Amino acid sequence: MTQLRKANDLIKQASEIETDILKWRREIHAYPELAFEERRTAEIILGVLDKLEIGTESGIAKTGIVGRLRGNVEGPTIGFRADMDALPIQEETNLPFSSKVDGVMHACCHDGHVAMLLGAATLLRKNKSSLMGDVVFVFQPAEEGQAGAREMISTGVFERFSIDALFGHHVMPGVVPPECILGKKGILTANSDRFSMVIHGRGGHASMFFASRNSPLVQNFFPSAGWGIFMPEFA
Ligand SMILES: [Zn+2]
Repeated sequence: MTQLRKANDLIKQASEIETDILKWRREIHAYPELAFEERRTAEIILGVLDKLEIGTESGIAKTGIVGRLRGNVEGPTIGFRADMDALPIQEETNLPFSSKVDGVMHACCHDGHVAMLLGAATLLRKNKSSLMGDVVFVFQPAEEGQAGAREMISTGVFERFSIDALFGHHVMPGVVPPECILGKKGILTANSDRFSMVIHGRGGHASMFFASRNSPLVQNFFPSAGWGIFMPEFA
């Protein structure tokens, strides 16, 4: 089979499981769970992977799961990763599948990420006979500021599953058109970092402000100055 026919065949197979992917996404969306509490989400993942007869290890860094699909032939082990957690945000969309959990919402698309990875697992399982090497599916808890990835890595996931390369992704609705995938070598998305700064001032009487050094004024200048530095690149 030519590469193009193979690709078209895969697209056809993907469209056949579209309703399943939608169902998983909406189910997870309706019952969002915060970092390290993704037990219901983990149950859904395990249910699907079990049905596909993909061997799993669960309870990694509390609620994380890794599934391994063995290829037909020896080859490298490629991993795909999806994050599982939701955010402490009240949903006000009134969608039929909107959050049934007060104050918690999948506002960062991780419900979609899990559903997409389950879809990929379904597709790859169907095409197992042409897999050259193993595929590992990594479901990671606590992406939202709780360092779930670090927790999973610290349990030795990379070594235990001999992962040669791992791919993560994030959807960007409204920014990247649905039919596009963006990627680049190295870091792609923004991340937060920390630094500390000491601003030295000198107190003074309001009537002699020119003799003082107003450190709060300097301090307040920084957030807007930061926007001034970065925003032009996005304009
Ligand atoms: Zn996110």
